[in-house]
Amino acid sequence: MQPDQTHCTYIDLTGSYRILVKGTVQGVGFRPFVYRIAHANNLYGSVANTPAGVVIELCGSSADFKHFCQQLRADVPPLAQIDSIAIKEIPAIDHQHNFRILISTDDCTTETQVPVDINICADCRRELTDPDDRRYQYPLINCTNCGPRYTIIRDLPYDRPATALASFSLCEECQKEYQDPANRRFHAEATACPVCGPQLTLTSGTGVLVHTDQPLQAVAALIQQGKIVAVKGIGGFHIICDAGNRNVVALLRHRKQRPHKPFAVMVRDMTMAEKYGHLNEHSETLLTSFQRPVVLVPDQGGLPFEVHGDLDRIGLFLPYSPLHLLLFQYLDCPLIATSANIADQPIITDAEVLRARLGTVVDAVLDVNREIINGCDDSVVTHVDGQTLMLRRARGYAPAAIKLPATLQQRVLAVGAGLKSTIALGFGEQAILSPHIGDLDGVAADEYFQRSIATFKRLYDFEPELILCDKHPDYLSSRWAAQQNIPVHQVQHHHAHALSAMVACGMGVTTEMPAFCWDGTGYGDNGTLWGGEVLQVSYRNYQRRYHTRPLLLLGGEQAIREPRRIALSLLFDLYGDDALKLDTPAIRSFSREELLLLQRMYTQRLNAPLSSSVGRLFDAVASFLGICQQLSFEGQSGMLMEKYYDSGLDICYGFTIDEGVIDLTPTFKVLVHESDRGRGVTGFINMLVDIIMTIMEREQSPEALLTGGVFQNSRLVEALFKQAKKRNVKLHIPHNVPVNDGGIALGQVAAALLREN
Ligand SMILES: [Zn+2]
Ligand SMILES: [Zn+2]
Ligand SMILES: [Zn+2]
Repeated sequence: MQPDQTHCTYIDLTGSYRILVKGTVQGVGFRPFVYRIAHANNLYGSVANTPAGVVIELCGSSADFKHFCQQLRADVPPLAQIDSIAIKEIPAIDHQHNFRILISTDDCTTETQVPVDINICADCRRELTDPDDRRYQYPLINCTNCGPRYTIIRDLPYDRPATALASFSLCEECQKEYQDPANRRFHAEATACPVCGPQLTLTSGTGVLVHTDQPLQAVAALIQQGKIVAVKGIGGFHIICDAGNRNVVALLRHRKQRPHKPFAVMVRDMTMAEKYGHLNEHSETLLTSFQRPVVLVPDQGGLPFEVHGDLDRIGLFLPYSPLHLLLFQYLDCPLIATSANIADQPIITDAEVLRARLGTVVDAVLDVNREIINGCDDSVVTHVDGQTLMLRRARGYAPAAIKLPATLQQRVLAVGAGLKSTIALGFGEQAILSPHIGDLDGVAADEYFQRSIATFKRLYDFEPELILCDKHPDYLSSRWAAQQNIPVHQVQHHHAHALSAMVACGMGVTTEMPAFCWDGTGYGDNGTLWGGEVLQVSYRNYQRRYHTRPLLLLGGEQAIREPRRIALSLLFDLYGDDALKLDTPAIRSFSREELLLLQRMYTQRLNAPLSSSVGRLFDAVASFLGICQQLSFEGQSGMLMEKYYDSGLDICYGFTIDEGVIDLTPTFKVLVHESDRGRGVTGFINMLVDIIMTIMEREQSPEALLTGGVFQNSRLVEALFKQAKKRNVKLHIPHNVPVNDGGIALGQVAAALLREN
């Protein structure tokens, strides 16, 4: 993600040197690595984690020092990433003819990055299954190359007393490993073993202790019996059950009141993954990457309808913690492993809270007394045409730093939007985007949001000089920003979408181009809801060049949950009162009384805000084609439509563009009478592609940005890439940051780049 900016200059003298290494260099086995190469090169001195980075002091011959520098750059541990190396000659150091790892100091500002959580490594995996190893079957096994990081860090520098392991004293054996430079667990801060480390506890959903010395076998048995179990993972609890058991999945849906939203499925290994998903090289790389995200792949069938309903893609992921692997020793079925939370709120990390909120959803709770200090959901990715699209950036990816195209003049805190919330810090040339928090809705989410801000301020020793928030006055994040005693700058939602994509795509400060900012809802400058915008953007500014023709959301928020209300609003636009005489799925789905009430809302503009959102147009099409009239989760209509898209069908509906207003009336006039879903969806998506190509041509722009939740639709993106190739134009879409509102906070940080203080 970041260019290698490692520079080493050599000083041709025998003497003493101080090296400051910045980047992801803590919690990734970096100090042991330095220790080893210092020894190998006969250098004396020390290495220490400091908030500014790793500081190495060395004494020895210039030739040895030169060789050390080469190795420092060339042989970096697999998970470390060096951003810069600064070397300074210093007066003689007191090295006592040895090389030591020093206790961490904290006398300078924090610039080092917080390491991310890492999938269990091959060595630990081997030990886990070796009956002769002292960590055989130990579910919390880890080493300097793997295991939890961000989720167990309370403070920087990354040392054991600042982690969730602080209260676990190392046993003699572990202590020996920890102090042995030749050992893989040399200064492994989270190391543990069955003798001295955290243990598992099994209780019922209501907290009654289950007496067993084999809690994992007991959990496996419960799952086989069709029970639902909460299992503590790396960044929070999962709710787990047998994905192949239709009845238990249906029961889970009923208990969790989650009728349709697809569940992610944890598969035992790649063989099982291939059984349920159509994989290719790209999805295999994503599935087996150290981040171990949930990967959306085309469905093979094979799992009950209850797992992911009518969707043609399925979210698969591989076990990533030793505990998951051990569980699969006793199970041969795919597992529903969904984040333990209520609706789309933040993930639950604590067993007490879990039992209080979801005690009636689960039959048992498998707890681990290793505290999750920072909650972190599973990441979700997909890929289109060989390009990764990040849908949820969390475990494994966050909070890795993202490079900005210029230096910030102030320390800024961005608080994001309202749905799929994230926050971000900006300082110097970097932004730290938090893991996915969830929808900011309710007290628990508010509490989690504020805790996340406090955590990031603490970890990075950070006090903001400026807060950035959305223009929407009612977002919980905007309201929080207004209450702080710090200057606040509001960033328009779609400009933030565009800026986020610009940073993620590595675009320089002078960039200017059209950005298609298509999403569900964002607060516009004119007080209406935007979401079908084409902005001419730069880091400094934006101009609203085009937008879709606004329509009335009959019933406001309610319309966002009911595609049929959007369809009805369009029908009133097209046919006036005659709309009620039409025989369409939307009209049929309402009672006579409801129709008359909605007609009054329409004619009198009562509780009917204007919206120019493309997300809502997807809703309308889903309603016209009878695919879906009411939503049970955000983005459902677009996801349901994907399977009807037929790339072999040569059909494209019409539109007009007049004075910047994109009018889809010609499309909807045809769609009202279309009964073939394949033709309807294909004609609509191809029409959206045509709009983008037409506008790029009008603007004479060979490149453009795609951003906003609408571009999570892989069929649309696929069709766009294909058309762009044909016409030799370039479409930019971010890969490491979500196009949905999860990327907004990053865009807000970028808005501060060229802003006058
Ligand atoms: Zn390991
Ligand atoms: Zn131990
Ligand atoms: Zn948005």
